[in-house]
Amino acid sequence: MQSTQIGYFCRMESTKHVIIVGGGLSGICLAYWLRTQPISVTLLEASARLGGRIHTVEGPRSTPLELGATWFSDRHPSLLQLIDELELTSFPQVSEGVTLFQTKSFEPPQRFFVPASESPSFRLAGGTRALIQALAERLDPQSIHLNTSVTGIREDGPAVVVETADGRTYKADQAVVCLPPQLMGAQIEVTPALPPDTLALLPTVQTWMAGSIKFVLEYTRPFWRTEGYSGMLYSHAGIVVEMYDHTSADGQRYGFTGFLNSGAAAYSPELRQELVLRQLGDLFGPEALQPTAYFDKVWNDEFVLSGSPYFNRPHQNNGHPLLQQSYLNGKLFLGGTETATESPGYMEGAVISSRRLASVLCA
Ligand SMILES: Cc1cc2nc3c(=O)[nH]c(=O)nc-3n(C[C@H](O)[C@H](O)[C@H](O)COP(=O)(O)OP(=O)(O)OC[C@H]3O[C@@H](n4cnc5c(N)ncnc54)[C@H](O)[C@@H]3O)c2cc1C
Repeated sequence: MQSTQIGYFCRMESTKHVIIVGGGLSGICLAYWLRTQPISVTLLEASARLGGRIHTVEGPRSTPLELGATWFSDRHPSLLQLIDELELTSFPQVSEGVTLFQTKSFEPPQRFFVPASESPSFRLAGGTRALIQALAERLDPQSIHLNTSVTGIREDGPAVVVETADGRTYKADQAVVCLPPQLMGAQIEVTPALPPDTLALLPTVQTWMAGSIKFVLEYTRPFWRTEGYSGMLYSHAGIVVEMYDHTSADGQRYGFTGFLNSGAAAYSPELRQELVLRQLGDLFGPEALQPTAYFDKVWNDEFVLSGSPYFNRPHQNNGHPLLQQSYLNGKLFLGGTETATESPGYMEGAVISSRRLASVLCA
């Protein structure tokens, strides 16, 4: 693929200071676009790691295992361009083979042969964390502050003051909040207050994948392939509702990834693991019971979900016009994938929203 660097050309003559709140793909990508501009950036991230809903872990065999964002496709041109620019490698998701479909727990699974897809989903070699690492490596490490949870943003004359949970304050010319809008509404007090229609909107902006449960397994051998299975499973009968092969890009390290029934959030991690292995043991035989690693993640912690959101459909109010405006007299902007008008909720939306904001900040 051809790589074209995306450039931003600021009209300002003197350096301005921008605070980015949130070190997920949107926030870190925005810092990356701004790095060559006369803009100094401070990025404040509440948790102990960058990446947000991108979260790749490893088992003892060093297999990259995705607990968060995993797949993208040729419908995600901005993300593909960024992957190219960062010289990262993508590879197709394995889908060829026998897919299993469990309709009822007391009936054998249905088996379907699925050929290799003509327009496959892709994964990133090394996991989607490779994207975060590649962006972070190009930034000044001093500009990134982890374990820094923002609780307030107030206008202070020509500046904004950003307040954190541990009582620190940061002053800047402008601030960009790259959080799910729902989370921003619940966690960050803006002074003077945001307009009533914007305040009313924030809790109704659905956060993609919040509340979902992703699991990963690592194995020493792709034992399912010897029986012709693709590793794909869809189930209405067990704790695992959806599963895919999770072999690494080099084809040498093996595993599965997928989603659990959302009711399993009430179970202990040990019980979830036991139920996952029991289901896979019944379907694929005893080798499925011997993973080298099992991890899962319930995406309902304070870094993704808060308050009492009012959602009734996926992507509800994503890309809403009120999310495109500036506030505090042009000193506060909203970012994050849910603000994107195209592909909101996805990594593509995160790249699109950060590109839009980079242009706005450079104008
Ligand atoms: C289980 C799961 C599977 C997914 N699968 C896919 C997929 O296959 N393909 C795809 O394209 N997308 C997928 N996604 C969506 C994808 O992860 C997101 O679109 C993208 O990562 C969002 O990035 P973001 O920076 O906009 O938001 P986030 O990643 O949510 O980043 C927000 C950041 O803000 C931080 N933060 C929160 N509160 C504060 C605060 N008060 N102060 C400072 N920092 C704060 C958070 O810790 C976080 O790091 C998936 C998401 C999940 C959870």
